[in-house]
Amino acid sequence: MKLSSLMFADDLLLFSKGDVGSMMILLRTFSTFSKASGLQMSKGKSNVYFNGVPATTRSEIVQVSGCIEGALPFKYIRNKAAVGKLLWWIHAHPDKLWVKWIHSNYLRGTAWREYQCPSDVSWTWKKLCKLRQEMQTAYLQNEWVVIPGKEYTVGKGYNWMQRDLPEVGWHHQVWNKWTIPKHGMIAWMYQHQGLNTKDKLFRLNISSDDLCCICGNEEESPQHLFFRCPYSAEIMLQIQNWTGVRMPTSREHDWGRTASLTRLKLGILRSILNAVTYHVWRQRNGCRHDMKLLRPEGCITMIQYEIRTKIKNQSKGKLARRDLVWIEKLM
Ligand SMILES: [Zn+2]
Repeated sequence: MKLSSLMFADDLLLFSKGDVGSMMILLRTFSTFSKASGLQMSKGKSNVYFNGVPATTRSEIVQVSGCIEGALPFKYIRNKAAVGKLLWWIHAHPDKLWVKWIHSNYLRGTAWREYQCPSDVSWTWKKLCKLRQEMQTAYLQNEWVVIPGKEYTVGKGYNWMQRDLPEVGWHHQVWNKWTIPKHGMIAWMYQHQGLNTKDKLFRLNISSDDLCCICGNEEESPQHLFFRCPYSAEIMLQIQNWTGVRMPTSREHDWGRTASLTRLKLGILRSILNAVTYHVWRQRNGCRHDMKLLRPEGCITMIQYEIRTKIKNQSKGKLARRDLVWIEKLM
């Protein structure tokens, strides 16, 4: 069975066929995933949604899964993203006739972004103003400023509302042919804010403190754990000596814009960064659950072994001459 999934900030959506058998397979697969990732499903908070499934099957599925039947929120979000476009037009296209009308009837000279909605206006207009507050961040983050070529689109607004990362090309960082799938999975969870670092567990009242599992000195945010923690900083430094290329200081800024790197070199470097993320996360879990921690050198050895094996298998001896010297140094 092919499993499809979508992951939001704290939510994971899994799709399957609407019969009890498929649901059982899905639950079993999820429990394997739970063991590997340490993520648990809280059944009381999980919903199951149906489309075109007969009532008897629905109640059977609700029973075997232990989840509550919910109503899909997607239509609502899509509509919101569509309305976002209208709001954007009010901001960016004052020459449109209906926008002129809005300006003369409601805004009356006030700039859209500073406009305060009065209490005696229609329900629809109030709703629109409320959504503008929400969308403001999206407009700013995505630099949808009033310049040609930077238009708001419903698709982008929709992605933003799902709290997807806007256009940073993270999927190239995570899913490239040099990345080992298990590393890719953890890096992907990182990008989707899906790793339960202690800052998050503390906020959710699951942990009594928010301190880093490895160093115990600072708040365990993803940025700390994977980049600032003395443990990962040491690994990064040694990896840097190994590759001869400066390692990034955050996931948001990798080497994507460095023109001097060939595609192959960029792919391998990203695969190395994903390997570091995976191994640091593993060590962190070992620390948290079993009080076990490998020294940075041990971690490096594993990373190098895995990357070298991957390069050997993936390149099959065919490599561009300009990359050869660098690759040979890695091997
Ligand atoms: Zn730390």
